[in-house]
Amino acid sequence: MRTLEDALIKGKALLKENGITEGDLDAWYLLSHYFHINRAQYIMHPRIAITEEQYRRYLTLIYKRSEHIPLSYITGEQEFMGLNFHVSEDVLIPRQDTEVLVEEALKVSRGKEVLDLCTGSGCIIISLARLGRTKSAVGVDISKKALSVAKENARRLQTDVTFLESDIYTQVRGKYDIIISNPPYIPTRDISDLMEEVKNHEPVLALDGSADGLYFYRIIINGVSQFLKPDGYIFLEISYNQAEAVSKLLREAGIVDIKVINDLAGLNRVIRGRYKKEEESFT
Ligand code: GLN
Repeated sequence: MRTLEDALIKGKALLKENGITEGDLDAWYLLSHYFHINRAQYIMHPRIAITEEQYRRYLTLIYKRSEHIPLSYITGEQEFMGLNFHVSEDVLIPRQDTEVLVEEALKVSRGKEVLDLCTGSGCIIISLARLGRTKSAVGVDISKKALSVAKENARRLQTDVTFLESDIYTQVRGKYDIIISNPPYIPTRDISDLMEEVKNHEPVLALDGSADGLYFYRIIINGVSQFLKPDGYIFLEISYNQAEAVSKLLREAGIVDIKVINDLAGLNRVIRGRYKKEEESFT
């Protein structure tokens, strides 16, 4: 007879053998996901019997993780801003660092028309629409497959967001109060140095920011005069070493009140500014 505990022990051992960092934790998450149990339930009844079939199926998930497939792609979900997002290999897995971007925008999003460029899973715009009382929300991506994940997320989370297939602004019309984006920003030559989980499984389209990593910032910031209302806000996620270059692009485009915000690790992560100055200061 097999038990939950046998499965977990075997799962941990296999992940360890395959050199998966934090393998013990991942073995637990996959157990919790597959058997729909929480930690307390497991601790109370670790020796509950499971069928041979269940044991085998759980190990199938473990084998996937052994191949460095990210946990979130195996479970098909990732928590972000306290919401549960569906993810597939067609979208970047929402990162905790990106919550800093959303938190910053939430300070001013109430009653605003918001445009999210490179929306991917839709995690940013859906969180803002749900938690930020926006007036309207539009998410844009060039990838049809990403958009179908984003639409599925909006449906599941019962959030009213319009999604648009567009190469940044090509299909965008009108002006917005807020433009927000976490665009691909990794310089092409750095992609081969990323973790196997990222470089072999996450969409390269969502990572590659061209030779200097700034390609998308240039396009997004160039569009400010056409797509951002006067006094509108722009919020961008950046890499730890891009604050200076992106600030310069923002200043050249008439953005003022530029501020760089750090992530939980204390690294520059978000940059925000306002299109043309108003008397009142940014709160
Ligand atoms: N906006 C999405 C996210 O932050 C996707 C970003 C991307 O594909 N670069 O997760």
